[in-house]
Amino acid sequence: TGKLGGKVVVVTAAGQGIGRASALAYAEAGAQVWATDINEEALATLTGSANIETAKLDVLDSTSVTAFFERIGAVNVLFNCAGVVHGGSVLEMSDKDLDFAFDLNVRAMVRTIKAVLPGMLERGDGTIINMASIASSSKGVPNRCAYGTTKAAVIGLTKAIAADYVTRGIRCNAICPGTVESPSLEQRMRAQGNYEEARAAFIARQPMGRLGSPEEIAELAVYLAGATYTTGQAVGIDGGWSI
Ligand code: NAD
Repeated sequence: TGKLGGKVVVVTAAGQGIGRASALAYAEAGAQVWATDINEEALATLTGSANIETAKLDVLDSTSVTAFFERIGAVNVLFNCAGVVHGGSVLEMSDKDLDFAFDLNVRAMVRTIKAVLPGMLERGDGTIINMASIASSSKGVPNRCAYGTTKAAVIGLTKAIAADYVTRGIRCNAICPGTVESPSLEQRMRAQGNYEEARAAFIARQPMGRLGSPEEIAELAVYLAGATYTTGQAVGIDGGWSI
């Protein structure tokens, strides 16, 4: 039962933050959820949740990705949520950081998509949701060069997949959040030295005067899983940042 009843959903980076909230929201909507993450301790916080199975999965590792999807069989919904934020302008961006950002923010999605898409095409049914950001081709954000570049690529990848498979029962959309409470955002605030000041600056970017919650983003992830007339979209959910 529930609007996603009978659907198998895979979420990457489901150990914390938006991925974790989404795994719970998909399960609440009736789906059978595979919550995956590289961090098993974080995944353990989901153990025992109804309709959720957890599995360690490093999306940087092609062999593990292929093996995981072979093991679990048919997937109806893939939510690629894993991503990393690097600070810095173009002059501060090292090759190593840019390569890593591309690997985790973009290529990891290509890996999981290549693993699930053939099965989705065989069944003529599948939906893919990719985590982008408002900091992307939607909006230039200071000090986020590697991040904005790779999240723009996520939108390009999303639209390319939507275009290639629109007649074959496959939908692909991207989610573009503004600033959302999460463990890694907390870390970025603490890393800036003056926590209160850093927090105030993040809140000041958001016209609504508050940060988003992972649960608010999870609602959109659930909506897109069932949005049967929506494909190729980069959907903003940003507290008015991009007005
Ligand atoms: P987070 O950054 O706090 O957590 C990220 C999770 O990813 C962790 O559980 C971590 O273990 C996992 N992870 C890291 N490397 C991995 C790998 N190789 N394989 C599998 N899992 C791995 O969570 P968040 O802030 O909610 O971010 C989730 C996604 O949302 C990211 O793609 C991020 O760019 C995007 N996003 C976040 C915000 C925000 O403000 N929090 C805004 C826009 C977009």
